[in-house]
Amino acid sequence: MFGDVKLGRMRGEGPRIIVELPDEIDDATAAERASAVFGFANFSLSHRVALDLEAIKAEAIAEARKYPARTFRVSTRRGDKRFAMTSMDVDREVGAAIVEALGLKVDLHNPELTVSIEILSDAAFVSAGKLPGPGGLPVGISGRALALISGGIDSPVAGYRMMRRGLALDFVHFHAYPLVSAASREKACDLVAHLTRYQAHSTLALVPFGALQREIVANSDRPLRVVLYRRFMLRIASALASRFRSRALVTGESLGQVASQTLDNMAVIENAAALPVLRPLVGMDKNEIVEQARALGTFEISILPDQDCCTLFVPEHPETHARLAEVEALESRFEIERMVAEAVRATEVKRFEFPPRGEAVSRAGEYRDG
Ligand code: ATP
Ligand code: MG
Repeated sequence: MFGDVKLGRMRGEGPRIIVELPDEIDDATAAERASAVFGFANFSLSHRVALDLEAIKAEAIAEARKYPARTFRVSTRRGDKRFAMTSMDVDREVGAAIVEALGLKVDLHNPELTVSIEILSDAAFVSAGKLPGPGGLPVGISGRALALISGGIDSPVAGYRMMRRGLALDFVHFHAYPLVSAASREKACDLVAHLTRYQAHSTLALVPFGALQREIVANSDRPLRVVLYRRFMLRIASALASRFRSRALVTGESLGQVASQTLDNMAVIENAAALPVLRPLVGMDKNEIVEQARALGTFEISILPDQDCCTLFVPEHPETHARLAEVEALESRFEIERMVAEAVRATEVKRFEFPPRGEAVSRAGEYRDG
């Protein structure tokens, strides 16, 4: 199963996986779904035809016609050697038919297009050309992590890049609703819905952060507030991650991009996390990240106006070189465990599926399966 598409038989053949799809799925849908499956370097769509040379020729011509190539070759494999012709004979006959119908030239060594024919015991499969897959590793093969999604441009790109390296992701968003509008929350939901096409199911933890921010504001001076907010975010995310059985956190931080992302601040912030913090964008320039966000389709969602909770009650010139001892001294005024537990208790968990169905919402406390 991939979402609503029920897959047929699957078999491995060397480095290839052959997946049978039901007839009701059109080529465009099949290609769109396959291009979201990490681990596929490329793929081709082939159609079943009768075990009959004329039928195979007709399908090969129809497929080759879809490509603008000038040179081609035919490559036949026989899964069932009982077929009356050898693979080379099929290559030659079908090749001649394509030359005659489309005027292409045969090039066995460096063709622009390869027409592949596979002969099985009950049918033949014909395809032409290859479509690029997304590459990477199959989702979940590297384990599970919790991605911090802010509603900005960077974090969805960071999540995508880690999914592509085989991590199954859960998501967490911190919001200050109702101190600010629900816009960032809605954006986080839209972004997670968008990313869910790569893993079929997602959960998003929505953490109300406003009450905790008020406590921080009441007990600290402005310059260190962002660092304190972030340390609490990582503590709460670490607590949620253990419920989701996630083994790492993922952020969209990029070195030097904003005040909270200096090396000193990142080190002090990370110190509050109970799990490794993965930062796939750490060495990327903003324009590279924007380019990826556009290609991914998240850019348009990310640039919608909102008010991030981290912009609440913060100074124009925040601390850029936080020192751990100073931050820890400041934090000794807080009941950290209670604050984290309260935030976790107030967390809502939303589930997403691709293709989308009704979304179920539950409290984090009720969350069971991983
Ligand atoms: P982004 O574009 O992802 O918002 P940014 O450039 O705005 O990143 P920061 O605001 O410093 O950078 O945030 C750094 C990272 O911290 C984000 O990429 C995200 O992973 C996490 N983060 C920040 N704010 C939130 C939030 N409200 N909820 C969840 N995660 C957040
Ligand atoms: Mg941001």
